[in-house]
Amino acid sequence: VRAARAQPADLLAPEQTAVLDALAARKPLLAFDFDGTLAPIVEDPASAHPDAETLAALKRAAALYPCAILTGRARRDLLARFHCLGMAELVGNHGVEWDPPIPQMGAAQRTVAAWAPLLEKALSGDPEVRIENKSFSLALHYRGAGDPKRALAAARSAAALCEGAEVSEGKCVLNLIPHGSPHKGDALKTILSRQRCDSLLFVGDDGNDEPAFQVTNSLEGLSVRVGRSEATSARYFLADQAHVKKLIQALVVRRERT
Ligand SMILES: [Mg+2]
Repeated sequence: VRAARAQPADLLAPEQTAVLDALAARKPLLAFDFDGTLAPIVEDPASAHPDAETLAALKRAAALYPCAILTGRARRDLLARFHCLGMAELVGNHGVEWDPPIPQMGAAQRTVAAWAPLLEKALSGDPEVRIENKSFSLALHYRGAGDPKRALAAARSAAALCEGAEVSEGKCVLNLIPHGSPHKGDALKTILSRQRCDSLLFVGDDGNDEPAFQVTNSLEGLSVRVGRSEATSARYFLADQAHVKKLIQALVVRRERT
């Protein structure tokens, strides 16, 4: 019989100092989600950007540890707006999109191409649901909708038309990912072995980060959720997005002084 799961702990609380010391003393992978984690959530996703202190901390961290970003965005979307500062890996589309490409990308692309016209037809004339085709997955955004419940219902019924879609609901977004695609947790395992890391930290903020939290836990890494929640597999939390840079800075300081 397993004990009840412990409540998530604040990773930046003084009593967790030894946990961060132990991580920095090994060869960890530092992996981050982007929206809501490295960058604050903003009304217009095209203007989401990490602040200057986060960028500076990330750049220093990337020189000291293998670092990765795992995002639901298309890779090109991040690369176009955000110089990725020596990241060891940048994986897009929730774990599906890699450079160089992985074999599963071809099937995912064909599946998404078949969904797009179905969604365009189902949602034509609905100004509150925006379709974002990211080639290897699709997103239905309803941020800013006047009637979010109605927009969500419309997005859900459109998503139900897409055969083989795994639908995950995020913050004002439905993500449609081809069934069988690698998720962020699978991506973490791949990066760990490529980078020959012996431990890991993963920081995310949303429902689609849960597989990555679970994989992180299974590898005895530090799973960290931005924002406290009872409904998460993450074992640690940060008070809010502004604390992500403090965590990165704490790991930089530990490595620079050794
Ligand atoms: Mg996020």
